[in-house]
Amino acid sequence: VYILLHWTPHTSYNFHNTKITQDKTMTDAITFATPYDDSNIFAKILRGEIPSISVFENDDCLAFMDIMPQREGHTLVIPKRPAVTFLDIEPDSLANLIKHTQIVARAVQKAMNADGFSIVQLNGSKGGQTVPHIHFHILPGSILNAGAHGAIPSDPEHLAKVAEKIRNA
Ligand code: 5GP
Repeated sequence: VYILLHWTPHTSYNFHNTKITQDKTMTDAITFATPYDDSNIFAKILRGEIPSISVFENDDCLAFMDIMPQREGHTLVIPKRPAVTFLDIEPDSLANLIKHTQIVARAVQKAMNADGFSIVQLNGSKGGQTVPHIHFHILPGSILNAGAHGAIPSDPEHLAKVAEKIRNA
């Protein structure tokens, strides 16, 4: 009897507390979203104002070659909806973006004959993000020994050949 009296309120208090915390986190994500600057380079790519070498596109997402690849096959996947960081995108859109990242990662891995690969996603300038439109990086091999981030432009003709391999994988 003691155990029941002691534990029942305690358990329900904890449950209640957890529920409030989860609700608050979701509200914060929507209410305090980072302002989106639609002059960023990926917004321009989405509007077709600057070119990109794409490997996949549908109504929700675009995947294209990173112009300064950290390794051959370095591909980016972005949502078409505007969002800056991991915390600014609605959970369902994030889930959809991850689903498409998995589809593209499978093709990158096959095309590049990679034993392993890395999925990287940076948030905020202090987190290393240089383009303020959320994206996943897909890199054949390990990010831990990849080339420098956003440093060395690749030849577009070469990137087009790599993209073709990925599209056909
Ligand atoms: P972040 O630093 O935001 O995680 O990654 C941005 C990535 O975008 C970098 O890897 C960089 O090389 C790439 N990038 C920057 N400008 C362009 C561009 O104009 N076109 C393409 N395709 N990639 C770009």
